[in-house]
Amino acid sequence: MGVYRTHYSKELSDKYDGKEVTVAGWVEDIRNLGSIAFIILRDRQGTLQITTFKKQHREIFEKLINLNRESVISVKGVCKANEKVRNGYEIIPEELQILSESDAPLPLGVVDKVKAEMDTRLDNRFIDLRKSEVRSIFMIRDVLINSARDYLRKNGFVEVHTPKIIASASEGGTNLFRLKYFEKDAFLAQSPQLYKQMLMASGLDRVYEIAWYFRAEEHNTRRHLNESTAIDIEMAFIKDEEDVMSVLEGLVKHICEEIKERCKDEIETLNVEIKPPEIPVPRIRYDEALQMLEKEGVELEWGEDFGSEEERILGEIMRRKGVDFYFITKYPIQAKPFYTMPEGGLSKSFDLCCKGVEISSGSQRIHDYNLLVRRIEENGLKPDDFRDYLKAFKYGMPPHGGFGLGIERLLMQLLNLKNVRECILFPRDRTRLRP
Ligand code: ATP
Ligand code: MG
Repeated sequence: MGVYRTHYSKELSDKYDGKEVTVAGWVEDIRNLGSIAFIILRDRQGTLQITTFKKQHREIFEKLINLNRESVISVKGVCKANEKVRNGYEIIPEELQILSESDAPLPLGVVDKVKAEMDTRLDNRFIDLRKSEVRSIFMIRDVLINSARDYLRKNGFVEVHTPKIIASASEGGTNLFRLKYFEKDAFLAQSPQLYKQMLMASGLDRVYEIAWYFRAEEHNTRRHLNESTAIDIEMAFIKDEEDVMSVLEGLVKHICEEIKERCKDEIETLNVEIKPPEIPVPRIRYDEALQMLEKEGVELEWGEDFGSEEERILGEIMRRKGVDFYFITKYPIQAKPFYTMPEGGLSKSFDLCCKGVEISSGSQRIHDYNLLVRRIEENGLKPDDFRDYLKAFKYGMPPHGGFGLGIERLLMQLLNLKNVRECILFPRDRTRLRP
């Protein structure tokens, strides 16, 4: 494993008792009792104890006790089983390399009892990530993304990457970031929507993208980022939106099962329970959801989209029924983007919610050119702004649909976190552009 480390902390076992190993990491704590000192060394898996005796190795002893906390060291020594030590093994050092000395005091403590403010944590994210409960979120995120890839590939989806610098708005919203593209104006893509739809006319009839979304969200909320990531899919030759929903529920179930199986330590660190949804996930029609809200005393005009408070109440009602994941289907057409397939005054659309928060939106899309042009106009947009997109609907476009599943939102809801900023390494929000 390299010159600085032969084993991670959790890899030590009885078979190494009395053997020489090399470990490396950050000095989390130093306890000096005069003739003996205990150093707690941390690596990505956990911590281990280094026990050093003044008499035996005076030079190493002196160097270790004079280190600042969070310095980086590599220690070669003998591994000893010792049941009094936290993880059951200690290292008696024979060689020490100080790889990097830390300054003091630290801008953010790693093991402090008092909880630091979110801003202090994010300003010092590299240190924040040294905490096992913070690091665990990103270990789980890795499994989430990789299990999504596995699932989609097994189901015939091809991974694609579409442009993030674009000439016109994806969804016609106002929350776009504008930028200069040489002599022209351009935007950052809100989502891969128009491109993944265009690909449905290409013969690659099932695609997915692990995509960046750029959205100039005007206000700071606990569930909006200005730069977020999503698992976006589009699939052709569908019967209706039910085909898309069954991919989504299968995907989320698979992700939950993989996390449950592969992230046992992280789940324990975060003290959460991962419950994969039972399939089929309950479907609640928009009209039914309105009635459910009415019974709780919440009045909403027909046609309006649910706000965060309504979503929370619906989540509460479902929680009482023991359900974490549920679909809300058949939204009024005016509550959905122009490319959504209408059905009477409603639409062939759905949102997937988890514990009272929307985590995904999807639908069957319009594939008829004339209808699409009409819907663009009815939404107050100019068909000419969409000419490249519209062209793809003129020369053979199969029926299709898809969804976007927010990675940070899914992670936040699965892990019962209070703020979506916990789920992205370096968040961008209304006020934060650094680090
Ligand atoms: P919301 O109504 O919650 O603001 P939306 O309906 O505008 O979200 P969609 O366009 O449906 O969002 O995007 C698909 C998914 O992407 C959402 O369900 C959510 O999981 C995620 N998402 C969208 N916008 C953001 C954002 N600003 N920050 C984090 N995740 C987002
Ligand atoms: Mg949505």
